[in-house]
Formats: sequence, C-alpha cells, structure tokens
Amino acid sequence: VLAMALFVGCTPKSDSGDGGDDSSGGSGEGKTVGVAMPTQSSERWIKDGDNMKSQLEELGYKVDLQYAEDDPQQQVSQLENMLASGVDCLVVAAIDSQALINPLKQAKDAGVPVVAYDRLLMDTDAVSYYATFDNKGIGTAIGSYVEEKLDLANATETYTFELFMGSPDDNNAYMLYDGLMEVIQPYIDKGTLVCKSGQTSFEKSNTLRWDQQTAMRRCEDILSSYYADEKLDIAFSAYDGLSYGVKAACEGAGYKVGAEDWPVITGQDAELMAVKNIIAGSQTMSIAKDTRILAEKCVKMVEAVLKGTEPEINDTEQYDNGKLVVPSYLCEPQPVDKDNYKEILVDTEYYTEAEINEE
Ligand code: BGC
Repeated sequence: VLAMALFVGCTPKSDSGDGGDDSSGGSGEGKTVGVAMPTQSSERWIKDGDNMKSQLEELGYKVDLQYAEDDPQQQVSQLENMLASGVDCLVVAAIDSQALINPLKQAKDAGVPVVAYDRLLMDTDAVSYYATFDNKGIGTAIGSYVEEKLDLANATETYTFELFMGSPDDNNAYMLYDGLMEVIQPYIDKGTLVCKSGQTSFEKSNTLRWDQQTAMRRCEDILSSYYADEKLDIAFSAYDGLSYGVKAACEGAGYKVGAEDWPVITGQDAELMAVKNIIAGSQTMSIAKDTRILAEKCVKMVEAVLKGTEPEINDTEQYDNGKLVVPSYLCEPQPVDKDNYKEILVDTEYYTEAEINEE
C-alpha cells in the first residue's frame, strides 16, 4: 500500500481539471472533496495539493483544489463556494483558522465532514480528524541538530543566536517554538547560548504569515542594532522561506557564504531552493516532510469520514483545539543536511538529482 501511495504521490498533477477519473475502479463514487491550501508561493503546498489531488482522483473522487495566496478572507470565500457547490468533504490547511470558524460551522450544519491538513483548525467542533507532522518534534529536531553540531553540551565558548519563528495565527508555529525551547533553554540558562537582541519569546520572534521579507527586515534590524561588534553564530529559522530572508540579511551585513563565521541557519520543509542552499553552504539544515505520506494519511481520513472506515491515528492527546482533542496522525519529520540529503530526498524520489543540480 505504501509503495503504491508513494508511486501515486510522484505522479504529476493531472490535467483533467477538477474531473475525477471514475474509470479507475476507485471507491470515491464521484463524490467531491474540496481541498483548501494556503498558498502557491511556497513549494511545499504545491506538492501537498498535487499529492492530495492525485491520490483522491486515483480513488475516484472529484477534487476541487483551491489556493488562497495567504489571504484569510479569500480562503473563507473558497470554503463558502465549495460548500455552495455541494462538496461532500472538506480538507483544510488553514491560513488563519480563526477566520474559518464560521464557514466551518456552516460545513457542520450542512453535514459536510472536515479534515484538518497539516495545520490544526482551532476553536471549532466541526473537525473530525487531523493529519500532520510531529510539530513539536520538528522544534526539538532543529534544536537537537544544532546542539549536536556545535557540541553545546561540552562547549566552553558561548554562541550568539536569534530566533525566526513562524506565524502567530498557525498553531504549528507555537508547537515548533515549544519543542525548540525545550532543547535550547538549558543552554540559555547556562550562558552557552546568548540572544543579543533579547527577543527569545514567541511574541517577539514570530513572523506573520511566515513571510520572507518580514524575516529579512527583522534580521537586518537585529544585525545592525545588536551585532555591530560581535558575530551572529546561529539563526534558528522555523521555515526555509524565513531562512532565505536571514541569508539575504546576513549577506547584506557583510557575512560571506563559506567563510568561517557564516552563521548556522536552520529551516523547515526542505524546499528545493533550501536543498541547493544546503549544498552551497548558505543554509545548514532543514526538516524534510514527505508530503506524499501526509497526503496518504489524510486521504485515509477522508475515506473514514465518508465511508465510516477506520483511519490511522497515532495521537489522541496533543492536539486540543480549544473545543475538542482532535484525533491525529503525526508523520515523522526528518532533519536533512548536506550529509544525508541524498538518502532522504533523492533515494526516496522526493526530488531527482537533476532537479537539485539545476542552476
Ligand atoms: C507548516 C510548515 C511550513 C509553514 C509555512 C506550517 O504550518 O507546518 O511545514 O513551513 O507552515 O508554510
């Protein structure tokens, strides 16, 4: 089943518009699934959308896939339109889930089941299941990677660091922060890690809508205000897009890629650009998230809500959305750097060697 799903995940987006292929003998019986994704400006969501569409179509579902370009109101309209057109199920990766409370209530009132995709839908009882990655585990993985790389446990010197965290309207961003702080707080307390800006709270270090430009400008300000006499050693970035902003700010401040004092820069998603940067040495690591597997778990949840089958669940505790603890499946994130990217991303055919080497 896994091999099959992986194969399906690799299939390029079909050109059949929103028409499903019922001839596959799948079990979708012409039912339509509305899939609402946040934005096409980030590569991962394009892969997520493509994987969901192809895997659902393979089962005979019709798919209405919509992207809202990080505009919460546009996502509200898309959900309303999907409901008006009579979708049988909604799969939602929210931009700002607070904005979706009303349309999700409409879904519930209309008897349309909802599955949360990657990002938890907060403060609603309309959601049945949640397919995601271990979001706190991503934070601990980022922290542990740096802890090992710099051997923080045995360090006699101090390292300066700054945080570039995710969006305050995304529950994942808080979970990542919590996981990261769990690992690095002891080193802050010991004085091994020093944040010169003092911006270690989530409130001070978040980045609305995970926006690259916002992270770049904040990094520029921090470098000019607090790092005139000392180098920044570590940028804990929560997403590759933010890492590109940090990279640009560092270059602007005179740091040279490949030089001894180029900072350690983390990331998340293992976007193609990030993998290229990792190979070139301008980013240190990222977190690979196999969206083919995520889509496969989510499709099982769609099947469950539409047919009463049992989805795979491996967490019934962590994801309390304020109204209920949402039964979840957490996929495993994998730290990736220049030593293991081939094994994790190329051997699994997530990317081809050619894509990675393209100029
Ligand atoms: C996802 C991350 C992604 C971020 C920005 C989060 O909700 O879990 O994988 O990097 O959004 O798109």
